[in-house]
Amino acid sequence: MALALFNNLTRKKEAFKPAEPGVVKFYGCGPTLYANPHLGNCRAFLFYDLLRRWMEYEGNKVRFVMNITDVDDKTIRKAGEEGKTLEELYELYAKPFFEDLGKLGVKKAEAYPRATKHIPQMVRLVQALEDKGLAYKGEDGSFYFKISAFKKYGKLSHIDAKGLKPGASGRVGHDEYEKENASDFALWKAWTPDDGCVFWQTPLGKGRPGWHIECSAMSMHYLGETLDIHAGGVDLLFPHHENEIAQSEGATGKQFARFWVHNEHLLVNGMKMAKRLKNFFTLGDILAKNHSPAAVRWLLLCAHYRQQLNFTFESLNAASASVDALMELKFNIESAMKSPKEETKGDVEKCARLCKGFLAAFKSAMDDDLNTPNAIAALFSFAKEANKLAMEGKVGRKGGAKLLDALRKADSVLGILEMGEGKGKEGQVPMEQKAIEKKIAEREAARKKKDFAASDAIRNELLENYGVILEDTPSGARWRRK
Ligand code: AMP
Ligand code: ZN
Repeated sequence: MALALFNNLTRKKEAFKPAEPGVVKFYGCGPTLYANPHLGNCRAFLFYDLLRRWMEYEGNKVRFVMNITDVDDKTIRKAGEEGKTLEELYELYAKPFFEDLGKLGVKKAEAYPRATKHIPQMVRLVQALEDKGLAYKGEDGSFYFKISAFKKYGKLSHIDAKGLKPGASGRVGHDEYEKENASDFALWKAWTPDDGCVFWQTPLGKGRPGWHIECSAMSMHYLGETLDIHAGGVDLLFPHHENEIAQSEGATGKQFARFWVHNEHLLVNGMKMAKRLKNFFTLGDILAKNHSPAAVRWLLLCAHYRQQLNFTFESLNAASASVDALMELKFNIESAMKSPKEETKGDVEKCARLCKGFLAAFKSAMDDDLNTPNAIAALFSFAKEANKLAMEGKVGRKGGAKLLDALRKADSVLGILEMGEGKGKEGQVPMEQKAIEKKIAEREAARKKKDFAASDAIRNELLENYGVILEDTPSGARWRRK
């Protein structure tokens, strides 16, 4: 079975194959950098990362590009309020943004194009639309897309373009608006005093791009006229993505994106987590409360991407416990592998069968529109069986290597163990898994030398400082968090 993805263009799950075999052209709408992104935004970035990792797992090369909106209505307003230039605003928020992506284990994109660095591409696109009769200059000097001239308008959001106001009689200058207000939208905005020092002198006049044209121009510049996948949060489906289709397909006459995929929202008390609602947490807020990025990653990936997810600290604690269970599994397998006891051929075969069944279940869940809840259920039933085999002394060097390999394969998609860190309980310092393992190895060495005072001291230190409980089993020490 290959990946079936829910395509919002057809509102169906469809078998996904890139147009060029083995190479996926994937564009995701990135952040508007006028504040630190919140966990809702992180949900979108982690969804892109999951999709990208799954397509890589299936043997594709993924050319992933994510834009940075560094000029639009919001950034201009924020820069004005703070007395900063757009460049200064970018400098302020770009570094923490990329650091957050790194902390969350998001793999690097091929490019992170900034809108302000691609103005000529946007101007050329508007000119191409004007040449085709799809754009016109309003009396205010701005350029608008003429939706009555583009018959396919509405094909993504499924609004009826015939019912919309024709031509210049209805126009919208703001970047964001509701479906009811669908009308000719701004491609290029003529300068007004509110823009202050934000403008470019171009063949279209003095002004700045509309938000929607930015993604059309940059995605096609980096990935070509037809993308395999275009992603974003569901809030972007209309008008942003509908307008991107109109601009891109209007100019090239070719299909712009073959698959349109959207993640559902992260909520707080049933409301979308949003900057304007002031109900948000940034990753920094969460880490300051001594939660780990691995728990955040787990929480945001665990729910299916097309289901809304309500954020609570209880669910974050549960995610943290799951991360610990996964680390514990890895440690238990590694400890069992060090046991001097020879494993039988039958034991090795048992491990091999367990791995095969697990990876098949994991793949079929992920191929089913990235069904992470099912993939994680498969992981936990694998963990239960593998822990049991290890406890029974049936995991040795060979069987353990197979179990670890399967775990690592799944983790190349989930990206949790590779972050290599756990979380201390409240008031405790998060401790790296490696550091825990180092302490346990020191204790083992002390026990071998029959230095029980030292071994007990390490056991107490792990418990008191890090909430880690040790249990001695026939195949070595196991640990879990209190
Ligand atoms: P923005 O910085 O607002 O342009 O958004 C960046 C990405 O985050 C876009 O793909 C949005 O659709 C997405 N997004 C914004 N808020 C949420 C939310 N509460 N839950 C999930 N995704 C969101
Ligand atoms: Zn976009």
